[in-house]
This record gives sequence, C-alpha cells and structure tokens, in this order.
Amino acid sequence: MDKPNIIWIGSPNFSSPMGYKIIAIVNHIMSGTLIGTDSWFKNPVSKVSSHFGVGKNGDIHQYVNLDNHAWANGMVKNPNWPLLQDGVNPNYYTVSIEHEGESGDVMSEVQYQATLALHRWLIGTLGILVTRDNIIGHYRIDSVNRSNCPGTGFPWDRLFNDLQGGSDMLKVALLLYTKEDYWAGSDVAVKNGDCAIFVRPADHSIPAEAMNAKQLIVIGGPTTKHPNEVLLSGNNKYDTAAAVAKYLG
Ligand SMILES: [Zn+2]
Repeated sequence: MDKPNIIWIGSPNFSSPMGYKIIAIVNHIMSGTLIGTDSWFKNPVSKVSSHFGVGKNGDIHQYVNLDNHAWANGMVKNPNWPLLQDGVNPNYYTVSIEHEGESGDVMSEVQYQATLALHRWLIGTLGILVTRDNIIGHYRIDSVNRSNCPGTGFPWDRLFNDLQGGSDMLKVALLLYTKEDYWAGSDVAVKNGDCAIFVRPADHSIPAEAMNAKQLIVIGGPTTKHPNEVLLSGNNKYDTAAAVAKYLG
C-alpha cells in the first residue's frame, strides 16, 4: 500500500522504543481543530500527543515517529479490550490517530478517505490485523473518561468494510504448516484460482497477510482462529492427505 501524503509537525511528548510490537491502531476525536491540536501537541506542558492527526480537509499531520511511543492512551480505566496487556502502558504497543472535529460529528468524505488510506498504510507497514480488537477506539481502553472518544460519528462499519473488502486484501490465502505440505497446497491453490500460499515461519507466527485474507485454508496444522478458516488437517500426514483429497473432491 502506498504511503499517503503526510505532513510532519513533531512533538516533544513521546517515549523512546520500549521493545513491544505494535498490535493495534487506536482512533481518537480531537474535540477541536487540527491547528489547535498541532500547537497543543507541540507544547511540552500538555504532556500529550498522538502519532497522527487527520483534518476535515484531508490533511494528515504526524507528531511522533512510528519508532517512538505517543502519549495518547496511557490511562486505563474500566477497559473493554481483550488485547490489553497487564501492567504495560498501552502507548507502548499501539499507534494512535486523532481526528479533527467534535464527538458525534460525521466525517467529511476527504477526511474519511485520508484516515482510510492511513489505516491501510499502517496495517501494511506494521502488520496489524484487520479485526475489531486490533483497530479500536480510545473508549475501549478508558470507558470512564473517554467514553466519547472517538464518539458515535466514527464510521466503524464503513471502515471495516473498506479495509476487509479493499483491493489489497486477499480473497483466499493458504497456510502450510511445513514446506512438506506443498504437494497438497499447490492442488488446493489451483482449485481456488486467486490464492496466495504462505509457509508457517520458523517462529510459528501466522503471517498478518494470511490472517487478513477473507478466507484462510490451513493445511497440516492446528487452527489459527481465523474467523473464516478451512482446516485441512489430521492427526498425521495420512489423515491430512485424506482431508485434502476430500476437499479437492
Ligand atoms: Zn482519545
């Protein structure tokens, strides 16, 4: 995904890298203007910042380098977010986007397109999964003082529709647990036409592109918990071969 046009503003309010992987995008509402946010985040007295701010005119401002941690989501109060890590400041594993406007505002079309492009670029650059737990609102971390952030005007359904249906998303991905499953994988790939094949990496993680595909076919291993998974696996290679043969018909 192409990097959108981003205007660097900068802020003195950030922490140096703490060694955590960024797993989520947190969306916010400025409850104010882009210009006002620029000066507030540039002020060391405010002790707040975000990585990005998206204006009603479609401009994207950046305040904190992606390598550093912005100060946007530090307070945890009555959270409703399963990925919250106990005892770790959420700023250390999230990237934050502020949006110009008041809570409840409906986004202008250019503002929506700008935040969509920014989301797509961050998802591709940071390997963030497209799920409702990996792209969230501030209220999921602080439901007491930030219950209106980003507020009822935020276009969650449209955003997820576009992120999941966008041209960058694979329709079908194939995950092989070992290279030896390739013999079966190639037949399954041919059956599906438009299909990318992944081999599970040595660290046993699931590649983000595979998890973000609309459907994930897994050969020879346990479930990935992908919401639309086809599991072609048995207790041994013969059972796996039988499951593949049955799938191929
Ligand atoms: Zn917020």
